[in-house]
Amino acid sequence: MTCGKIDFACTRCRLSKGRTQVVPGVGSCSSPIVFIGEAPGGEEDLKGEPFVGRGGKLLDKVLKEAGVDRSEVFICNLIKCRPPSNRRPRKDEIAACSRFLESELRAVNPKVVCALGQTVANHLLDDKKKMTELVKAERRLHLLGKDVRFFVAYHPAACLYQRKNIGSFRKSIEASLRAARLRD
Ligand code: URA
Repeated sequence: MTCGKIDFACTRCRLSKGRTQVVPGVGSCSSPIVFIGEAPGGEEDLKGEPFVGRGGKLLDKVLKEAGVDRSEVFICNLIKCRPPSNRRPRKDEIAACSRFLESELRAVNPKVVCALGQTVANHLLDDKKKMTELVKAERRLHLLGKDVRFFVAYHPAACLYQRKNIGSFRKSIEASLRAARLRD
């Protein structure tokens, strides 16, 4: 299910030219937690759903092991269209797309937000901290007029490239689910 208002014909930035389709967030619009990834990749661009590729399978697996199905949470991306060659989203693309993430966050109104990867965390926190620092502790994030509990996890793709990150990834996901009271 999509939550909030998404413009499926959006042409606000250059990414509209190369995309197959706009990829909105999916999951429960009453989820206590929102996971925010960076941008759709190739499989997401084709299927129209976030985190359905290899990284998504890892996210699903870690959620499942924690006793949570992806349909119980809300999963979305900072930007809704695939960047060419899966490069990082640019500042102007994030700005052009921010209304859609905001709309999703307003619709879901989560108590907990978990950023997947450094790009998302740096954007939301407006800082330049490295992952090793970001994953250390829970933070409080002022988001759209209210405070949410904020966690940072390694991006699933970073775990696929470097298996040593999986332990930290699992810890962050589990801690965020605990904060959202989706697990003990
Ligand atoms: N990586 C992301 O950040 N988001 C996706 O949806 C897929 C891969």
